[in-house]
Parts: sequence; C-alpha cells; structure tokens
Amino acid sequence: MEVIFKNVSFSYNLGMSNEKKAIDNVSVFLQGNLIHGIIGPIGSGKSTMLELMNGITKPTSGEIVVGNYELTNTKSNFNFNDFRYDVGLVYQFPEKQFFCSTVEEEIAFSGKVFNPKDKSIKNKVKKALKMVGLDDSYVKRSPFSLNGGERRLVAIASILISNPKLLIMDEPTIGLDNNSKKRLMELIKNLKTRYMKTIIIVTHDVDMLYEIVDDVVVLNNGRVIKHGNKKEVFSDVQLLDKYGAPVPSVIRACSIIKERTNINLGHVKNLNNLVRTIANKCIDKKMVVANEK
Ligand code: ADP
Ligand code: MG
Repeated sequence: MEVIFKNVSFSYNLGMSNEKKAIDNVSVFLQGNLIHGIIGPIGSGKSTMLELMNGITKPTSGEIVVGNYELTNTKSNFNFNDFRYDVGLVYQFPEKQFFCSTVEEEIAFSGKVFNPKDKSIKNKVKKALKMVGLDDSYVKRSPFSLNGGERRLVAIASILISNPKLLIMDEPTIGLDNNSKKRLMELIKNLKTRYMKTIIIVTHDVDMLYEIVDDVVVLNNGRVIKHGNKKEVFSDVQLLDKYGAPVPSVIRACSIIKERTNINLGHVKNLNNLVRTIANKCIDKKMVVANEK
C-alpha cells in the first residue's frame, strides 16, 4: 500500500495568531510492500508525519493519498472505517494500553471494536498471534505475566488482527532487550516478505533500522533533507551529521576507518560483520608482513 504526500504542510495553532510549521511542503512517494524508515532529530516532524498519513491530523495544505484512500480529497467517498482496517498504527510502548486479563481478550478487544458482530474472532486472535510468532498457549495467559518482548508482540498482534495492509510503527524497539529486539526485527521482515505488508517505522534506533529497512526519509525542521534507499541515505554521513540525524554505528565506524586509514570497507551489514571484516584484514596484513620478512 503506497503513501503519497504532495506539497504537504501542517502547522500547529499556538493561539494568539501564532503557529508552528511542523511539516513544511513535503512531497514523498513511499512504495508499497517495502520497509520505510523516517529519521531525524527530536522536533523534526516525524510524529506529525505519522499522524498525517494515519488520518488523525489533516494537513493545512497539500494532498495525501494512502493506497486507494484520498485523505485530502473532500469529493472522494473516503470511508474512515475501511481505512482503519487497512492502516494499523503501533504507538510507542503500545503494551501500556493493556487492561484485559487474558491475551485473547486483549487482542480480541481491538478486533471487536472494528466489528462487534464478528463471530470468528477467536480464530482471528490465533491468526494474529501466529503472525507475531506466538503459539496458541498464549491465548489464556495474562498479558501482565509476559516479558517485555512478548508484551510488545501481543500489542502488535492486537493491531494485526484487522489485517492492515499498511503498518505504521513509532519507535517499535524502544525499551526492549537485545533478544526481544532481534525477534521483533525478524517479525517486521517477515510481515513484509511473507504477509506482503508495507511498513513505516519512525525510530532513533538506526542500528536496528539499518539491518531491516529498504528506504529512508530524513527529516529536519519539517522538511525532507534526503530520501532514498538505505545505502544511499546512510552513506552520506556528513549530511546526516549536519542535520542532527542519527548514524548507524557500523556506518560511523567505517567512516572513521576510511577517514583515518583511507581503507574503504565497502558495504558492511552490521557490527558483527564489521568485527569479522577487520579481523580478516588484520590477518591478511599480518600475512603480507610475514611474507615480506
Ligand atoms: P518529532 O516526532 O520528530 O520529535 P513532532 O512531529 O512531534 O517531531 O513535532 C514537530 C514540531 O511541531 C516540533 O517543533 C514540536 O515542538 C511541534 N509540535 C508537536 N506537537 C505540537 C503540539 N501539539 N502543539 C504545538 N506544537 C507542536
Ligand atoms: Mg515524535
């Protein structure tokens, strides 16, 4: 499900005829069935952009189209109920909203909100759990008995129950330990490849993002500074630094190595691979030195 912004601006009304332009003439095309990242410093407009594409906020000017939904066209017969099925929003710390006594009720609750007459809800709960990699044994457990990572997965399942085509996530890995983070990263990749979802992630966790994302939008002061595939965007360290956008550790390390030694390590997937690459280079170097002796 693609997302199109055409010359979109949005200002918060601060009263006394003051306003804050949070999104400033943004035009982007986010292709369907890819994982997109939105990064930028605090206050750059990331959350506002999510709210605009989720229909919670209406732009001051410009056009927004999400799949077949023309959010800004007053003449289109836009159905907000259908839109809610097709677009899921995972807030920061979504598990904080839990209030039911079982995982099943927790997930079913959002399903029932969508369609109170739905009798197939139990099956849908199981399907949603399966989608996030949890088996049926979780159904009757209390959501409060789960660890942090499992709680996050249940919260995501409660969004996936309506089978959205587009999943929007605000800081999905925040507060998770390393193992839970890895599990969630696998899930996000799986949602794209196996379930054909489009995923948009706002995050400061660029180490995570670098491993799973396809395309990245960099925001600063409500404007798009750069938009392209991850290699293109993350290789421009100078630009990211200039606009206060976070840089993945592996890219930072490669950039320092290049600067100090003029050795270009090329595309390195993650920190583990970097350590391995450096180790191999050292071994090669040692062999050269030994041969020279
Ligand atoms: P980010 O998510 O990147 O931190 P936001 O989209 O939350 O950025 O905010 C963008 C800009 O809009 C910031 O300057 C912020 O101070 C301002 N802003 C956000 N929410 C409000 C609000 N409810 N009222 C007034 N200004 C706001
Ligand atoms: Mg924010």
